[in-house]
Amino acid sequence: MSKHDVVVVGGGISGLTFAFEAARAGRSVLVLERAPQPGGCLSTHRMEGGYWFELGAHTCYNSYVGFTELIEGCGLRAEVQQRAKTHLRFLDGDRLVPGSNLGVLLRLFSWPEAAFSLPRMIGAKKDGKTVEEFYGRIVGKRNYAKVLGPMLSAVPSQSADAFPAGMLFKMRDTRRKDFPRSFTLRGGLQSMTDTLARQPGIEVAAGRTAVSLEASGSAWMVVTDDGERHEAAVVAVATPPSASSAVLGGAAPELAAQVSRVRDTVVETLAFAVRASKVKIPVSMFLVPRQDVFHSAVTRDSVPDPEWRSFAFHFKPGPSQDERVARVTRLLGLGKTDLEDLVEKRTVLPSPALGHERIVGEIDRLSAGRRLCVLGNWFAGLSIEDCVDRSRSEWARVAAAV
Ligand SMILES: Cc1cc2nc3c(=O)[nH]c(=O)nc-3n(C[C@H](O)[C@H](O)[C@H](O)COP(=O)(O)OP(=O)(O)OC[C@H]3O[C@@H](n4cnc5c(N)ncnc54)[C@H](O)[C@@H]3O)c2cc1C
Repeated sequence: MSKHDVVVVGGGISGLTFAFEAARAGRSVLVLERAPQPGGCLSTHRMEGGYWFELGAHTCYNSYVGFTELIEGCGLRAEVQQRAKTHLRFLDGDRLVPGSNLGVLLRLFSWPEAAFSLPRMIGAKKDGKTVEEFYGRIVGKRNYAKVLGPMLSAVPSQSADAFPAGMLFKMRDTRRKDFPRSFTLRGGLQSMTDTLARQPGIEVAAGRTAVSLEASGSAWMVVTDDGERHEAAVVAVATPPSASSAVLGGAAPELAAQVSRVRDTVVETLAFAVRASKVKIPVSMFLVPRQDVFHSAVTRDSVPDPEWRSFAFHFKPGPSQDERVARVTRLLGLGKTDLEDLVEKRTVLPSPALGHERIVGEIDRLSAGRRLCVLGNWFAGLSIEDCVDRSRSEWARVAAAV
């Protein structure tokens, strides 16, 4: 049996932010992570020779104030790397639609429909509306179905139609002018979670799946799939909703019941590098298909390299690996042997729906007064910064109790 002040379940940015705050405050922390290494959606594949590419998150903004403070707090400020301006492109089957960013949206929109709908933007409120209802009303139903909907679904790598409209894009008031507007880290974003995991006071047990939580006197006991028991005064659960509700079920069934009301979904990522000389597709950092077996593709063209380019295709569940490879090679005009360092990753992502705020309110009500925290990318929003915000505010809530 192990004994720590704090046990964190899940070693993504949510769990590791909580661990970092607790360790910085002098507490001993154990992080239990199911995968062979921590990081979760911060997932950087590194090739021999130093080239890297992302399978998950790729972009941070200088409005991510909490995240920038974390970067400074763990000594990574010098690693911040500005990203080149984004080129968002649309795909029609295998054809790249001419134009990028706003230009391509303007090209694809039906303007009679937009002209009729756009005045509805004045005073439009997101409260109580889904993404489809809110944006469909502003640009028109057909424009939404053919252009804006696919683009909005490309962002969270799943259909965003049923999301609460307020959760998708969040305007943040403050920007750190001393950070680039859009940035990554030299060596990729997983450098952040790698560094957090190495901080003094934090022990990471990778390859360990938490299966249950028990009350143990005034403490908690987390049980892992190898039968080990891990005792702590504070437990934070920072996994996708389905995994969190399974872990919480035994000791906190009411909390687990609320968490289980948040649905999640799977995205299957296929990523690879290609010799730059072989790729014909122009610089296009974010590819949005209008109707396809994948939600989006992200390239590393934002941090150019003379020798390599790379692509991460975020697929809907269903196609086999062979079918996925066939799809991307046809699209890019490449052979299978051109794809180097082919890697795959299965990610579970939350799918919030209308009424989400009430569920979060109930989770917070049931957690109040307990040394039990539920963290993740599904409280106020889905970005890295939303994870950091949630973890820091939950640590502040329980810090005095341990
Ligand atoms: C393809 C993609 C692109 C993205 N792009 C961006 C972007 O550019 N900018 C941005 O701000 N955000 C982006 N995001 C969102 C952001 O990366 C995530 O919201 C965030 O990283 C989630 O962190 P998390 O710690 O809450 O969850 P996760 O990263 O999902 O971490 C949860 C961890 O818990 C582990 N786990 C699960 N069950 C158990 C268990 N029972 N026991 C132990 N461990 C368990 C998992 O293995 C995982 O490591 C992107 C997400 C994806 C998937």
